[in-house]
Amino acid sequence: MFFHILGYLPVDIFDILLFNNINDFVIVYNYREVIVMLEFQGCGVSDGIAIGKIVYYTNVRENIKECKVDDPQAEIERYRNALELAKIQLQKLYDEACLNISKAESAIFQTHIMILEDSKFVDTVEELITVNRFNAEYAVSCTSKSIADIFKSFDDEYLKSRYSDIIDAGNTLIKILQNKKQKKTYESDVPVIIAAKELMPSETVSMKKSKLLGFITNKGSTNSHTAIIARTMGLPSVTQVDAVLSKFDGKTAIIDGKLGKIYIDPDKTTMAMYNFKKERYVKYRNNLNKQIGLPSVSKNGQKIKLSANIGMLDDIDAAITNDADAIGLFRSEYLFVNRLSYPSENEQFEAYKRVIKSFKKSEVVIRIADLSADEDINYLDIPFEKNPFMGFRGIRICLENEEFFKTQLRALYRASVFGRLKIMLTMINNVEEIEYVKRVIEKIKMELRAEGVQYNDNVRLGVMIETPAAAIISDEICKIVDFVSIGTNDLTQFTLAIDRGNQKLKYSYEPYHKAILRLIKIISDNAHKCGIPVSVCGDLASDISLTPFFLALKIDELSMVPSQILQVRSAVRETDTSIVPKILENL
Ligand code: PEP
Ligand code: MG
Repeated sequence: MFFHILGYLPVDIFDILLFNNINDFVIVYNYREVIVMLEFQGCGVSDGIAIGKIVYYTNVRENIKECKVDDPQAEIERYRNALELAKIQLQKLYDEACLNISKAESAIFQTHIMILEDSKFVDTVEELITVNRFNAEYAVSCTSKSIADIFKSFDDEYLKSRYSDIIDAGNTLIKILQNKKQKKTYESDVPVIIAAKELMPSETVSMKKSKLLGFITNKGSTNSHTAIIARTMGLPSVTQVDAVLSKFDGKTAIIDGKLGKIYIDPDKTTMAMYNFKKERYVKYRNNLNKQIGLPSVSKNGQKIKLSANIGMLDDIDAAITNDADAIGLFRSEYLFVNRLSYPSENEQFEAYKRVIKSFKKSEVVIRIADLSADEDINYLDIPFEKNPFMGFRGIRICLENEEFFKTQLRALYRASVFGRLKIMLTMINNVEEIEYVKRVIEKIKMELRAEGVQYNDNVRLGVMIETPAAAIISDEICKIVDFVSIGTNDLTQFTLAIDRGNQKLKYSYEPYHKAILRLIKIISDNAHKCGIPVSVCGDLASDISLTPFFLALKIDELSMVPSQILQVRSAVRETDTSIVPKILENL
């Protein structure tokens, strides 16, 4: 952290200037306000400049603070009311779930009710409130943790796995108890900069874009979904900021997403400089708008499709504004977050229909939900995993939970009549998984025909190639699918054994590594040998230093966050592919 004291301040204005530590200082002054600008260097994960007031966002997880209550009886009443509400919510979830998934799977919600009603649970909470005068949230959190820990210590695998049920059940109750406080923490009438310890993708997508200017966080990484969402929203973001951000609630800040800099209480000079920089940035973006309507074609006439990656229905606008040629990746898993139960078939159908209809003339690639234990999705009942990226995720969940998978496929097929749908499977490692999916799809089509429901028989089935295993056997995969798309984010982390979310390893996460570039070439060559199109939909697609490489490989489509499309189009149009094949010589 750096700090600046502006102007000439007479020494006597300070009574004491105390520095507790470099990030935590106190200035006590007697009569004149001192303007102190703080500057932090973090890691820029989404380009652009934001200037505005900070609102500190408190996550459910960090908000469980111990407070002493004056009136334990009133607190017990508050707890009992929340308990009743939680039971009603969970019963509703159970009823809804029974319509969408099997009874056995839906029973999880009844288990949660039983946990919350259990006399040991209730007695412990009430005792903590009465004897220790704890607030209800804290009492529930301590109780669920201590009971869950007992289960965790059992040898029996079944009992062990109840750990997450107990924590989840407690969290349902805590969320109800915290409801009001939670909302207040980030709702604002004017657009603001959100500061937080860490943001989950589900938290980021639940915020209204029109009320946001940018994000500042303590924890995060360039390749996390939260960062990808920020880039998709076009909001400047800096993470890895080493400061107690809650102290800056209400203060004016500047975010420089490119340089990864944050200024709190900017001085006049910095403010003027950044207003100018912002203006220049807007001009640069406006200049890029000249690319709108131009074909994505190189100087010597090689065509490439430049498509948009979207995560939410709200992102469709950004895809259209940035003149995407198509939707190359709709991360459908965001339909499954921030809710208490699975989205029903109809709800999913409406969402897919909207995306497909909005890009009626071009293809729309919808990816099967790539859910994982990484997300806070209580109803999914995925136990805690040490390494969710390599865990129960994507197609693996679909294979084990056919009912859930069939619901998504039915919704997709029903929506297919509205345009040109392509379904993409994720985390595929072998051809058997694809063959299995094909059989499920045949069953779905048969069901729909029997019900007299229309669908498009031309839906294309493709896979993401994002594991080294899939890349190496891409010759076999390409023979049985209609298209492939290279997910360079995961492919890089799995090939290099570098966690894409670990900011400490940021410099080792090298998408330009020869191994990655070779794999991309292998996949692309295999796809073309089989006569199917290949796209790149990982973040590398928007890296303009690689545009000539992708063109040299004759990649058919690059799909990226909408805000990058025009910049890549400009790079494509400036490239002469008759010169670039040399790039491939050293691979
Ligand atoms: C990828 O892995 O490159 C990809 C596009 O998928 P995601 O970032 O959603 O994991
Ligand atoms: Mg991926």
